[in-house]
Amino acid sequence: MDHAPAPITRFDSECGRLVIDIDAVRQNWRTIAARIAPAYASAVVKADAYGLGAAKIAPALYDEGCRDFFTAHVSEALAIRPLLPADARLIPLNGLVTGTEEAVFAAGLTPVLNTLAQVRRWSALLRDKGARREALFQFDSGMSRLGMSLAEAKALASDTELLEPIILTHVMSHLASADEPSSPQNESQRAAFEAITALFPQAKPCLSNSAGAFLNGAYHGALARPGIALYGGMPAPGMADVLRPVIRLDVPVLQTHIVEAGAKVGYSGTHVTTGPTRLATLAIGYADGLPRSLSGKGAAFFNGVRLPFAGRVSMDSVTVDCSALPEGTLSEGDHVEIIGPHQDIEALGTLAGTISYEILTRLGARYARIYTGKA
Ligand SMILES: *Cc1c(COP(=O)(O)O)cnc(C)c1O
Repeated sequence: MDHAPAPITRFDSECGRLVIDIDAVRQNWRTIAARIAPAYASAVVKADAYGLGAAKIAPALYDEGCRDFFTAHVSEALAIRPLLPADARLIPLNGLVTGTEEAVFAAGLTPVLNTLAQVRRWSALLRDKGARREALFQFDSGMSRLGMSLAEAKALASDTELLEPIILTHVMSHLASADEPSSPQNESQRAAFEAITALFPQAKPCLSNSAGAFLNGAYHGALARPGIALYGGMPAPGMADVLRPVIRLDVPVLQTHIVEAGAKVGYSGTHVTTGPTRLATLAIGYADGLPRSLSGKGAAFFNGVRLPFAGRVSMDSVTVDCSALPEGTLSEGDHVEIIGPHQDIEALGTLAGTISYEILTRLGARYARIYTGKA
């Protein structure tokens, strides 16, 4: 008996269509780069470029002039290393995790050193190899997530022997509340960061995420780290005026039906029709990343008409009430909009009780992914 897995057969007709506009990603990067100049814009391509495909997006942004690419994991950086020319810097944000040091060195990655132990391990490894290599130091300016403390910064700054093999290019920190421009946490983090950067005059400051790039120039440093803004997320005021949406998601109708008043729809019969109702069941469910929290709350759109979810989101499908459409308008095989001009990722995230970031990074593996624009 043959135990090799059967080759994967795809039928695009049974899948949602996820269209990813590379030109929009390029344009969003240019918009941010122009906004923060003379500071440089990197690109955060962690989690497979927020689920949209780092292998497609990183080379396109290199082509636009981007040279610094942040991932979370070392493995994510290794995956795109062969796709980018040698002068691209690949920077894993989660730090020099134990066990990854040799791979980071061998692939020429630029580690973010988040702890004193990581600085010691990188310094010792470089001494061992007789090499000097670049790194970034991350400090905690008030988020208590990753990075060294002010006290550690002071100890580190005076330890010339430890620092000797390390070419410290940037000192970085991360803003916790940049999407709320009026939050006092921004100014307090900026001030804390300034005190730390003063200890390392040889290095450049690297502070802003996407929303930070929309704060004033005091937050831009020398290198910004935009992620969500490249992918059409607009979590902070002002972003929607200048950024472009990147994705569109349309899903096929599996079946339409007409039910009488009193019909229960979906698991647990949470939705009960109040009159004769036209329903359509769509090929998207929580296994595709459609949050189950949208049960009874979400909607699809067809020709701009809102089709509210009737009942719960299932694993592979959701049923919508399409009574607002003229009879016969929507048929089996037609596509309806889940993400697009009538419902962007911010709106969908808010409705689901989450954020655009989670909507993007949970986009499922079953969609037919279609890339448009200059690859
Ligand atoms: C994810 C991340 C970013 C990018 O944040 P966005 O809000 O998506 O722009 C920047 N810096 C760090 C440290 C991150 O973890």
